[in-house]
Amino acid sequence: METGRIEKQAPLAVALAYPSPYPVAMSSLGFQRIYRALQEAPGVMCERVFLPDDLRDPGPGATTYESGRPLAAHRVVAVSVAYELEVAGLAQLLLLAGVPPLAEERRESHPFVLAGGPLTFSNPLPLSPFVDAVVMGEAEGMIADVCRVIDDAPTKAAARAALAAMPHVFVPELHGSELPDSAKADASLLPAWGPIRTPDTALSGMFLIEAERGCSRRCTYCVMRRSTNGGMRLVPPEVILERVPRDADKVGLVGAAVSDHPKIVELVESFTARGASVGLSSLRPDRLSDAFVGALARNGARALTTAMDGASERLRGTLERKAKETHLVRAAERAKAHGMTRLKLYLMVGLPTETGEDIDECVRFTTELSRILPLSLGIAPFCAKRNTPMDGAGFAGVDVVDDRLDRLRRGLRGRVEVRATSAKWAWVEYVLAQGAAAEGRAVLEAVRDGASFASYKRAFARLPASRERRRLRVVEVEDRPA
Ligand code: SF4
Repeated sequence: METGRIEKQAPLAVALAYPSPYPVAMSSLGFQRIYRALQEAPGVMCERVFLPDDLRDPGPGATTYESGRPLAAHRVVAVSVAYELEVAGLAQLLLLAGVPPLAEERRESHPFVLAGGPLTFSNPLPLSPFVDAVVMGEAEGMIADVCRVIDDAPTKAAARAALAAMPHVFVPELHGSELPDSAKADASLLPAWGPIRTPDTALSGMFLIEAERGCSRRCTYCVMRRSTNGGMRLVPPEVILERVPRDADKVGLVGAAVSDHPKIVELVESFTARGASVGLSSLRPDRLSDAFVGALARNGARALTTAMDGASERLRGTLERKAKETHLVRAAERAKAHGMTRLKLYLMVGLPTETGEDIDECVRFTTELSRILPLSLGIAPFCAKRNTPMDGAGFAGVDVVDDRLDRLRRGLRGRVEVRATSAKWAWVEYVLAQGAAAEGRAVLEAVRDGASFASYKRAFARLPASRERRRLRVVEVEDRPA
């Protein structure tokens, strides 16, 4: 049962859609922030639409969660897209709704499809075939105005023309592949916080609130590095403490680099004193002081989760990470000293210049760490993103990533728990991260072909010949049995 839902009726009803199922959507602070922005805007209301858990058994289909109204019956559909693989979810949601997924095939009677979300900070071009417009960057200060402009326009073409004249709005039909810069929300709109608490997510009942926005660091692979939207903006602790309801017994402190908040230890201690457990979205190893780890342990944390990012000290140096082996060793020792029972580390494999020696160093070092505290590794293949210094770096190849993962698993068997996301799907993510409208259309072909990895391979193989590097990658993947 949800708490905090905002009940409202207003003349302009927006369908606020998320191209993944409910538990993912409702764990997104950005989605909840836009929900609140629309529900608080005069004359505007929204109802939520989620991708069904199981597309083979979609239940009521693409209808609103609140009243069951069809998505197709709305004049405006606003969709929040977090990352590349959710482009398929948007196509699936529109197909399920009976709305032509391609903007060029929609008529006046169909909804105007507006996108936004974290993907806009790197590369929203693969969304181009599906959307009428995209709000770039931090949309909370402008989403209601954008929806009103669409609603007031006599035709969709007029709406697109009006939006193209607004700052931070990308209209693919009129802008081609020229992206406007990202919106930066006014300081008065911070912090974002989610009004709805729900037991039906992995965060079960957690109240989500932003402790800071952006980052002051410059990790070379990261879209949220300090050059994005002016770096880090801090939320004062007293503002956070006042905003979190007294009855919230779980609080999620969200931000790109929450552990860099200078008052983070005091914040955790304050919530402990209130009897609320705290979850933090990002802990940098060089920030894990004894006081901080102790505060987390007293708050109830049994595991300490942080990132080592690259397999070796040399690779971490190429990423401009501040994390060193000494930080990770100290973090493990402090976690143990404060009674925690596990260390969890995130790691990327398939980084440019990575070799088997880097993987062997990782085996050696994480074996050492596991002697201090039981260790889990969460591994993701590296995908170069636009709007980062590593933009344009190639994908290592599905075969290479799988070989590296095998090498890690063999070296760590019985000592370290290793979990990895799929190299194949990382390659799909990579093609879209580096792609444009043609890759977006290929997603639709893949979705119509069953949305399996094999259907993506076939669809990407049909991309124009000029996309040479990507084609090479297709060949590399094709050469191996699926
Ligand atoms: S990876 Fe984290 S610490 Fe590095 S730039 Fe991105 S948000 Fe900042």
